[in-house]
Amino acid sequence: MNQLDKIKTEQIESHQGEGFMLTKFSEAIGLARANSLWPLPFATSCCGIEFMSTMGPNYDLARFGSERLSFSPRQADMLMVMGTIAKKMGPILRKVYEQMAEPRWVIAVGACASSGGIFDTYSVLQGIDRVIPVDVYVPGCPPRPEQIIEGVMKIQELARSESARRREMPEYQKLLESYNID
Ligand code: SF4
Repeated sequence: MNQLDKIKTEQIESHQGEGFMLTKFSEAIGLARANSLWPLPFATSCCGIEFMSTMGPNYDLARFGSERLSFSPRQADMLMVMGTIAKKMGPILRKVYEQMAEPRWVIAVGACASSGGIFDTYSVLQGIDRVIPVDVYVPGCPPRPEQIIEGVMKIQELARSESARRREMPEYQKLLESYNID
């Protein structure tokens, strides 16, 4: 077992010995989900450039199992919204979110996606949480790649610790209801 695998298996409750590991099904599912998050980059402006750097060899998001970008919502489970989102784009963003299969997580990367940033104007959405639920907010204008990675690691924590049947959790259903999402 290499060092990285060791760290990953130490993140779950298990009994281990030479050549074997026993754990609960839910822990194994959480471990697999957390280390194979497929991002959908919804990048509209400068924060998207920081994301490109995060994917490049210096920061290498592949170390976290997230090198496989998906531009199809149906094959992604981590929506990363990066940049200024105009109000006209709100319904498009929501449609993308609705087309993602469960379990799905959302990161608002940077000030614009989180709150509208410096663009306090009639045309800019003052935070994507006005149209879709957000799991993690990454501050900064722009955030550095290290901060984006920290955001991904927070999503990993959620994926590991949440119920394998997240969609059936009452609090999650209530959250979706508050956004009028089935
Ligand atoms: S938060 Fe700053 S860097 Fe990111 S999209 Fe907005 S203006 Fe650009």
